[in-house]
Amino acid sequence: MNFAVGARTDVGRGRPANEDSVLVDHEDRLYAVADGMGGHRAGEVASATAIDALKAAFADGVPLDQAVVEANAAVFEKASGNLDLRGMGTTLTAAALLDDRRVLLGHVGDSRAYLMRDGGVTRITEDHSLVEQLVREGRLRPEEAASHPQKAIITRALGIDPEVEVDTYPLDLLPGDRLLLCSDGLTNMLTDRAIAGILRRQPDPQLAADVLVDMANEAGGDDNITVVVIDARHDSAADGVSSAAAPAAGVEEPTGEWPPFAEEEGEVAPEPPVPAEAETPRSRRGRRALAWLLPVILLFGAGFGALGWYARRTYYVGLAGERVALYRGVPGGVLGWDPTVEQRSGLIADDLTPAQRADLEGGHRFADRSEALRYLRRLEQELTPPPAPASSSTTVPPFGVVDPPDPKTPSTIR
Ligand code: MG
Repeated sequence: MNFAVGARTDVGRGRPANEDSVLVDHEDRLYAVADGMGGHRAGEVASATAIDALKAAFADGVPLDQAVVEANAAVFEKASGNLDLRGMGTTLTAAALLDDRRVLLGHVGDSRAYLMRDGGVTRITEDHSLVEQLVREGRLRPEEAASHPQKAIITRALGIDPEVEVDTYPLDLLPGDRLLLCSDGLTNMLTDRAIAGILRRQPDPQLAADVLVDMANEAGGDDNITVVVIDARHDSAADGVSSAAAPAAGVEEPTGEWPPFAEEEGEVAPEPPVPAEAETPRSRRGRRALAWLLPVILLFGAGFGALGWYARRTYYVGLAGERVALYRGVPGGVLGWDPTVEQRSGLIADDLTPAQRADLEGGHRFADRSEALRYLRRLEQELTPPPAPASSSTTVPPFGVVDPPDPKTPSTIR
């Protein structure tokens, strides 16, 4: 088998800079996406530092999981040594092609890896996020997770602590398999079903990467978008025979734990027999510890990084003076990250009902920008009188600022 790879990273439409980083290293056959976060563009530094350190360590012969640990140390050290970078962090999801069949994934954070096999697409990695933890514990339904106000809270990232626990997933690929690595700028814009459809329809890996990014942008492009598509292909007929003679499946027990993601949309996708371990006993232990520790961490502030991360990923609608406005950040600010006005509306406080006014004075929070924008538009429609006929050419336009194009809902992408 040989491999063909396509990759692309894009700033998207909602952010001033691209804080994602991507690694395409054909020489060492190492591929990765990293999604950085931190004030003053520290996210760019975090993701780039992690990728550089990962590549250097892996090229030196360090095993993948240990190379991710070294990437964590590199980001942590840089953050500790520079006030502007303090609190920065990054996700990292990496795939190392070990030989012509075996792949090892290393993973921390809420970037993701998916495997397409026989037309079915399965998510392999587990998000290290609060909502996914709540879903695992049965305290939140999967369909509630996507719109949960706290979906941006990450429970594990590189650069936050001197040590990090790395999830690893060994996979045996078969000819025709396709692996996708991506940042949440893709998965927050497109449903798993839409992603699967694109992966099935675009046989060329670079084209698939391009279309995924383009569709995420068309759906709003709220965040930076990074994708890597890795295809496992037959070398030749002879190679195909030898692969068939030594089937990869059965080397390790499939866990069957990964739901095919068409499930929530009602589509029945063939579930591929993924030979891999979802997690090591060590990572299970760690997760139990994390479940216990998380409230403590969040309450007592040892999770500075997670909070800062949250602050930069959260949006709210509030009052800027007397004017209704869309803010990025958390009302009142957190850890030195003050909220910033993203957009001012034509509405003023006097237009609001007393209840709305009280709500907005406290800041009405949303998990992402497009939800906050939708709410703002609803308010504007509700409270702005319809344009009167002819004579009222002086009517104030309902919006103080021109909005970006209306984000399409992911469900329009079929
Ligand atoms: Mg992101």
